[in-house]
Amino acid sequence: MFGKCFDPTGATYGVPTYPWRYAPDGLATRRQLRARGLRPGGQSIAAQIMRPRYRRGPLVAYLYRVDRAKPVRPMTPGKRAALAKAMCARRTCPNCRADAGYVIPTSLGMCVPCAYPEEQRAA
Ligand SMILES: [Zn+2]
Repeated sequence: MFGKCFDPTGATYGVPTYPWRYAPDGLATRRQLRARGLRPGGQSIAAQIMRPRYRRGPLVAYLYRVDRAKPVRPMTPGKRAALAKAMCARRTCPNCRADAGYVIPTSLGMCVPCAYPEEQRAA
C-alpha cells in the first residue's frame, strides 16, 4: 500500500490498516473517542490508520470500536456517596465530633470553638 521502502515504525501488525482519513464507520481514535466523552475502556486496538510521511516512518493512530467504548469516568451513586462521606468527615471536628458546618482547617485540626475555647467564653 505504501511501497517497498515503507518503514513500519510504531505500526502494529495483525490489525486492519487503513489510509489516513479512510477509517471505517464505528471506529475512532482515542482522541476522537475523548471528544465524544468516551474512552477505549480496556478494549484492544481494532485497527490502525497510517499516514505516510516523506523520509520518515508513517504517522500511526490506533482505532478503537465505538460500540465497545465506555463513558469517561461516570459519577456512580457509590462514588458520589463516598465523596459526600469524605466531605462530611472533613467537616466533622475530631475533638467534639460535631459537624462544624465548614471544612475543618488543617492548621487547627479541629473546629474553631474547640481550638479557641477562651475566645468563645469571652464572646
Ligand atoms: Zn470541635
